[in-house]
Amino acid sequence: MTQITDRLDQLRTQIAAAAEQAQRPSHSIKLLAVSKTRPADELRQAWSDGQRDFGENYLQEALDKIDALRDLDICWHFIGPIQSNKTRPIAENFSWVHSVDRFKVAQRLNDQRPAGTPPLNICLQVNISEEASKSGVLPSELVALATQVATLENIHLRGLMAIPASSDDPERQRAPFAQMRELLTRLQQLLPNAPLDTLSMGMSSDMEAAILEGATMVRIGTALFGPRDYSH
Ligand SMILES: *Cc1c(COP(=O)(O)O)cnc(C)c1O
Repeated sequence: MTQITDRLDQLRTQIAAAAEQAQRPSHSIKLLAVSKTRPADELRQAWSDGQRDFGENYLQEALDKIDALRDLDICWHFIGPIQSNKTRPIAENFSWVHSVDRFKVAQRLNDQRPAGTPPLNICLQVNISEEASKSGVLPSELVALATQVATLENIHLRGLMAIPASSDDPERQRAPFAQMRELLTRLQQLLPNAPLDTLSMGMSSDMEAAILEGATMVRIGTALFGPRDYSH
């Protein structure tokens, strides 16, 4: 067994355990493998162990891997900051974008989605801990943004994404995730025709807390691929 095989196995077990604790079916939680900085052969290994969803943060790096792994049936997710002049390759190469936080970007993704491809799945990134340094729409501005994005024809507004302020305390970790769940419930009521079914939340250090509060997609890098090396 490779280390990736082994860690993927462990993660699936941990997700199932957290799901059981939350009294939720474990298939209601999707594992998104966050593969930024990792070489294509590691993604290939995870794929051969059954992993299909991969998340990337850096556009050029992602495009190189998408190219190198064309032979695999991977579902690609863009989860990094988006420059509005770089939306076209995102609209053309990804199935999901988790990091939309302004209408201009959503509109460009909509206009640039190639004809004949399925609508682009989008999550709105919420700055749930209201940190000045973080991207994301503020909770108070979410309804206005979601209402606008829901009108776009080539976009499926699937839900919300957040990276809360970090805490080592599992109980404290839950509060912002609970707020996210409440925000999604509110949007579901206001926009009954939007396919809002996704809470993209929980990373290596707070996955369990997120699942207990309703995460439907957990984004895991370190716990699957090991610590990242940004030195080159
Ligand atoms: C890097 C990253 C992750 C994964 O973080 P880990 O702590 O390595 O699991 C998840 N989401 C986003 C948006 C990221 O940038």
